[in-house]
Amino acid sequence: MSAQPSNKIPVVEVDLNANKKRVHPRFITGFYQNIRVISMYALLALFLILPWIRYNGRQAIWFDVPSQHYYIFGMTFLTQDFYFLAVFALIAAFALFMVTVYAGRVWCGYACPQTIWTHMFQYVEKIVIGDRNKRIKFDKEPMNAKKVFKRFLIYFIWFVFSMITAMTFVSYVSGTEALYGSWQMLGGVIPFPEWSTWIWVSIFIFAFSTYVNAGYMREQMCIQICPYGRFQSVMFDKDTLIVSYDYERGEPRGARKKGTHPENLGDCIDCTMCVQVCPTGIDIRDGLQVACIQCAACVDACNDVMDKVGYPRGLIRYTTERQLVEKEPSRVLRPRFFAYLTLLAVLCGGVVYALTDRVPLEIDIRRDRNQLSSLNQQGMIENSYIVKLTNKTQSAHTYKISLEPQDGLSLGVRFNDVPLEAGESFDMPVSIYGDPEVIEFGQTPITLTVASEDGKYNVSKQNIFTTQGQ
Ligand code: SF4
Ligand code: SF4
Repeated sequence: MSAQPSNKIPVVEVDLNANKKRVHPRFITGFYQNIRVISMYALLALFLILPWIRYNGRQAIWFDVPSQHYYIFGMTFLTQDFYFLAVFALIAAFALFMVTVYAGRVWCGYACPQTIWTHMFQYVEKIVIGDRNKRIKFDKEPMNAKKVFKRFLIYFIWFVFSMITAMTFVSYVSGTEALYGSWQMLGGVIPFPEWSTWIWVSIFIFAFSTYVNAGYMREQMCIQICPYGRFQSVMFDKDTLIVSYDYERGEPRGARKKGTHPENLGDCIDCTMCVQVCPTGIDIRDGLQVACIQCAACVDACNDVMDKVGYPRGLIRYTTERQLVEKEPSRVLRPRFFAYLTLLAVLCGGVVYALTDRVPLEIDIRRDRNQLSSLNQQGMIENSYIVKLTNKTQSAHTYKISLEPQDGLSLGVRFNDVPLEAGESFDMPVSIYGDPEVIEFGQTPITLTVASEDGKYNVSKQNIFTTQGQ
């Protein structure tokens, strides 16, 4: 397909039923590819290393689902703190929208796990079989012992990568100690893990998903499944950075003798290098397409070709529709930018305030529902409660509970001091006694306060003392 210059960059509709051939990209180096490889593998290293980092003697990032405690560098969150997660997700979504409005699909090309793992898996094929032409030839070869061996070698390396990925994922939830510290020697020789059922199931699901996504689904994930790729066109405007082919300069495309530039041809020598390096196997010269993850491999490849034939670089380049088609400078400060910036500032400000204002001590008061109140042997009205204390700090503390003084009410506790380890919870039975001569009939608001022994943390909660049932 040869695109015609128009007043808009053509948008190529994706054919979901198209029977696509397996993509074997040519691996190249270049300005953008170097940035891409550094960013992708730095993120991968971070993913692998983070579970091994310790903070105050505990795994620094640990989403301990079974105990419903979530640790992030010294902060402990409980299930009831999940609104933080919702706000973090909102911040991430708005940040992604803002970046997309400006830099297009930079996330897809430089940071998305699907891109990173696909790149890794394709690179394994390159190492075992060879570069693009060899891989295409290899696919067509009849089955023989050498082919079987190479296929198995690739599958084995993919399997190892998938297992490492799955175990790293699971270690964020199970903790590294549960995952790597529970191995037995079967028959005294073969190491075998003693994992709980959910660990086995999670590892299987993650490993299987990684293997299938990066080994087989690849660009089909971006085209057919990923919602971000599908709704990006809504976020794009004329000033969004995109990787685009310069139709005016490139067309009509065509081969030519080295060192010449026939007048009836544009700058594109139709060498197809931009197609060969594309990890999703598309031709950027056709126009904007959902399969383009904006990795800029075609930019580097084409610049290399331009250097060789002595034409200026940038036939394929990062540009905007306003620059490329309307020949006007792009607008940086536009209303959308301020809208996203304001929203992000409000959300981030809210999170910072909530985190700094947060007391790392949780109390929850539950009434004994079976018996609202009773008369004890001393003739006092007794209300019973369970006070759940949770130490959300990173160190051990001892807590005391007290009742805000009120005429006719007194507190009865089984333990004066409650020592709690970091992250530990305790259900403390508490009774409040009311003098029937002094307190009013009906319901009286009460306030219970829990304070740490060093006075650093204290939290108060209200409940009701009732005479009902007398
Ligand atoms: S790499 Fe450049 S010159 Fe070669 S086909 Fe692509 S656009 Fe044309
Ligand atoms: S068209 Fe270019 S930028 Fe888009 S995915 Fe292919 S190589 Fe990357």
